[in-house]
Amino acid sequence: MTTNETAFSQAKAVIPGGVDSPVRAFGGVGGTPRFIASASGARVTDVEGRSYVDLVGSWGPALLGHAHPEVVAAVQEAASRGLSFGAPTETETLLASAVRERVPFAQRVRFVSTGTEATMTAIRLARGATGRDLIVKFAGNYHGHSDGLLAAAGSGVATGGLPGSAGVPEAITAQTIVLPYNDVDALRACFEQVGSAIAAVIFEGAPANMGTVPPHPGWNREIRRLCTAHGALMILDEVLTGFRVDPAGWWGLEAVAGWVDGAPSGRYSAGFVDASCVEGADWVPDLVTFGKVVGGGMPLAAVAGRADVMDLLAPLGPVYQAGTLSGNPLATVAGLRTLELADQGVYDRVNASAQEISTIVSDALSAAGVAHRLQRTGSLFSVMFGEAAASSGVYDYDQARAQEAWRYAPFFHSFLSSGVALPPSVYEVWFVSGAHGEAELEAIAAAAPAAAQAVAQAQPE
Ligand SMILES: *Cc1c(COP(=O)(O)O)cnc(C)c1O
Repeated sequence: MTTNETAFSQAKAVIPGGVDSPVRAFGGVGGTPRFIASASGARVTDVEGRSYVDLVGSWGPALLGHAHPEVVAAVQEAASRGLSFGAPTETETLLASAVRERVPFAQRVRFVSTGTEATMTAIRLARGATGRDLIVKFAGNYHGHSDGLLAAAGSGVATGGLPGSAGVPEAITAQTIVLPYNDVDALRACFEQVGSAIAAVIFEGAPANMGTVPPHPGWNREIRRLCTAHGALMILDEVLTGFRVDPAGWWGLEAVAGWVDGAPSGRYSAGFVDASCVEGADWVPDLVTFGKVVGGGMPLAAVAGRADVMDLLAPLGPVYQAGTLSGNPLATVAGLRTLELADQGVYDRVNASAQEISTIVSDALSAAGVAHRLQRTGSLFSVMFGEAAASSGVYDYDQARAQEAWRYAPFFHSFLSSGVALPPSVYEVWFVSGAHGEAELEAIAAAAPAAAQAVAQAQPE
């Protein structure tokens, strides 16, 4: 039998760091990454045959749980008809329609293969539409790994302790203005100075790549107001939150249902919306990006939004974008089946489990006397350690990085040895699925006290 140890050393001989995406290497927590042999429902099984309750969920896509039988069957059926054609298929139209049905302001949808491509395309579209170059982003917001968007990009670079990335020309970063998150004054000042040169503001509706950081009430609406006033486009990045926190994503929760920072209790789920909700919404972006859940675990993402802007894309317009595997038949069928199966019951279960798990974890940490803060936006949550986080909360990237991040490794490894796999970085959110049930909650509750004790005894390096 292979061990995780040998699998990792063999991988490192042929793959940089042994992984195809940095956070998987366990750099933030130490130790050996688990090489996964299979996954089903709420659990993953490693090459040593050990099974874990999974709170990573492939970093978001696994909303229904892993290997949902109906999604797998749909993919198998599609595979038997061919893996890729490089020609349009009807499934793409069906999935685009399913997206628009849930998020009615997405009048046109273009499918790509990764969230990185989706945001990259949204930026190009905004520049093409406005004839301007500058992009505004917020520190700690992650929009994939394209050159112009890597500055102060949150979890991945924060875990590695990197300021940004080597290999990005200064001429390109000079086109990106990075502002502190949730800072209305900084955003207003920026628009006053260079507003007429700003093509777009790109932002996560509720940042989930520096831990879970809620937007201040009115923050996203203020982004809308300033963009409109200065002729810039508003690009909402819902690659992580889209179809996960609500059928209509973060936009549905906040702009339609009025969710604001506060106690995650009571009715805050917008549920399924219709076109009339767009008119009544608090704010509506020009462009939106999706990924993760929309592909149901396959490589698929999308850029969507206002028809007049989207129709600037080739072949209709002058903004070029293309992809050999874009709208891949297996990926679109996985996404379509996933959205069809993600009914209100799934969202209710995911929300309830998220609330329960965050309470279990927070109670265990409190009982062990650990200063912490459990932040939650919809079904996304994560823990922040230290007195500062506990007393004033975490609302921007500086505060996120000021927490006692070193307390996370012992917490993570205690859970892992009890058979619960948390994200291997304190800057990542925890993902729950519709397949997480009583047995999983019990396993987490049983593991939590020892993990909390391990945190209490942790010493800074
Ligand atoms: C994951 C993520 C991306 C990048 O998507 P990839 O498919 O990993 O390229 C972009 N934006 C947000 C908010 C994300 O969470």
